[in-house]
Amino acid sequence: MSAPAHIRVLSDAVINQIAAGEVVERPGSVLKELVENAIDAGASRIEVEVVDGGRRLIRVRDDGGGMDRDNALLAIERHATSKLRDLKDLDTIGTMGFRGEALAAIASVSQFTLSTNRADSPIGTEILIFGGKIQDVRDAGVPPGTEIAVRNLFFNVPARRKFMRTAQTEFTHVRQAFLLEALANISIAFVLRADDEEVYHLPAADSLLERIRDLYGEEVATHLRPLTFGNGVVEIGGFAGVPPFSRLDREWQVIFINGRPAGSPIVNYAIQNAYRSVLAGGRYAPLFLCIDLPAEMVDVNVHPAKKEVRFRRPTEVRDVIIEAIRLAISGPDLPGRQMPERAKPPVAFPAPHAPSAPPPPSSALPAAPPAPVAHIQPRLDWTPPPVPDAPASEPGDTPWGRYRVLGRVGGGVVVLETDAGLVLMDPRSAHERVLYERLLGAIEKGAVPSQGLLPPVTIQPSPAQCQTLRRHLELLTRMGFGVAEFGTDTFMVDALPVWLAEADPAPLLSDIADGLMQGGKGRARDWARPIIATIAGQQAVGLRRELTDAELHALIRDLARTEMPYTSPRGKPTVILFSTQELNRKFGRD
Ligand code: ADP
Ligand code: MG
Repeated sequence: MSAPAHIRVLSDAVINQIAAGEVVERPGSVLKELVENAIDAGASRIEVEVVDGGRRLIRVRDDGGGMDRDNALLAIERHATSKLRDLKDLDTIGTMGFRGEALAAIASVSQFTLSTNRADSPIGTEILIFGGKIQDVRDAGVPPGTEIAVRNLFFNVPARRKFMRTAQTEFTHVRQAFLLEALANISIAFVLRADDEEVYHLPAADSLLERIRDLYGEEVATHLRPLTFGNGVVEIGGFAGVPPFSRLDREWQVIFINGRPAGSPIVNYAIQNAYRSVLAGGRYAPLFLCIDLPAEMVDVNVHPAKKEVRFRRPTEVRDVIIEAIRLAISGPDLPGRQMPERAKPPVAFPAPHAPSAPPPPSSALPAAPPAPVAHIQPRLDWTPPPVPDAPASEPGDTPWGRYRVLGRVGGGVVVLETDAGLVLMDPRSAHERVLYERLLGAIEKGAVPSQGLLPPVTIQPSPAQCQTLRRHLELLTRMGFGVAEFGTDTFMVDALPVWLAEADPAPLLSDIADGLMQGGKGRARDWARPIIATIAGQQAVGLRRELTDAELHALIRDLARTEMPYTSPRGKPTVILFSTQELNRKFGRD
């Protein structure tokens, strides 16, 4: 039954490797090619499995049309394609990139197995290729459809292998490629498994919103509003997130141009512009932006590998996008859709000399500024165990030993005279720095007291976030969270770190999961930095009123004790120093 095994060297194995060097960047790009082939083959269900971020294995199985033996052999030849392409249709070719080279290129730089069968054929074909050399072609009992397994990518090209990053980084790219395909093909069922764990299980969806919900979770889906705006030429569809729901990176922002994942600087500019006045800097709302326009208005050949396009009338595209997003996120509340209600009074500046004293009543503070801010709005009614008060004249490597407050100038800037010279201090940035180091210190020591939530809250983070939270439950406990898994992709939160006791648990944990995903298992200091910086910044927002003298002195001393007294955690200066020498020099007194 089995066909004789014939071993032969692909005539252009080397050429394929060179081509692969150009077109196969990393596991994520292999996934994209294989999944797009499966889609072209008419699959209704596509299962993807990766091991070690795709570095050890990328396997894609589909239930599409499959191939007979001749076609299977042809498919792995360079420039073999069953897809007739009209040369007039240059736009399409530009986005395809490989033009019948993908399989040959991938097979030339991996250990490659192709198993395929047509529905009308009793027996299927299996082809084994090792670094571009066909090792075996044989009959195999294969269900209708195609399965391609790519093992040890770049095993025979050390220079390329070196460029692969950690499993975690490669998996980030794998997931991103998967997400894009799943969003662009909602009627196909998808599964993604990573290291034996099911990351996504997506039934065929009837609507984009349904697919978004399956991919990103209920929480994201409920904060979206449909985008429906166009000028008759450029049409915008999809969904836009309503601030302050947002995260610290662009992972929830996906752009499709004429149905294909793509982007361009002008689109990014438009998105930023539309959200600028309603979202704190450095935060990104979820956005599923579908831009449709006549093919002749878009040039996709700018950079096929980067999927970047150029528009013939960029300002028109920009203006339509801005208007579409603004309309979507500023419109009246849709029935059944809940606007996030997280505006709370600004947090009080802590009274550092009385750590156990309750914060001043918020009614004594100026009203909350109307500008929406990011959604972490913790209350600071906890200050760390009091550090024994150092005398103000304690010398050390702090920026000042002794100091005297000379007064305050415009915008609340404080003027100090110190041993080192004249110092201008921005209390807000200084406060951010002090809070930041306290929060980090408490987390690292695991000395974060928690506060019970009554009643407990259930949250439904996105599947990727769930996977991350699941892996870091112990760390979260040390941070003062009470979090436990509670059914499929649902967690129960019954306690929060006390200094975050008033934060909304869902967005808070979603931010933390994202931070963990980016930073991995390193020290809290490494991954928590952007999160804590945001929290510290939020809390310092409350610092709009003038400080009392006692608060000011406490702040100055606290700042002098920090590890990095000169900048806020977000990189703004806390103090500007004019040394005595510098002043003398400026006055020409040397
Ligand atoms: P292209 O997709 O540009 O045609 P590829 O190298 O990706 O080039 O694929 C070569 C050919 O192999 C395709 O044209 C198609 O005929 C066949 N093929 C690849 N993957 C599949 C699949 N999953 N199911 C059926 N046929 C496939
Ligand atoms: Mg292809």
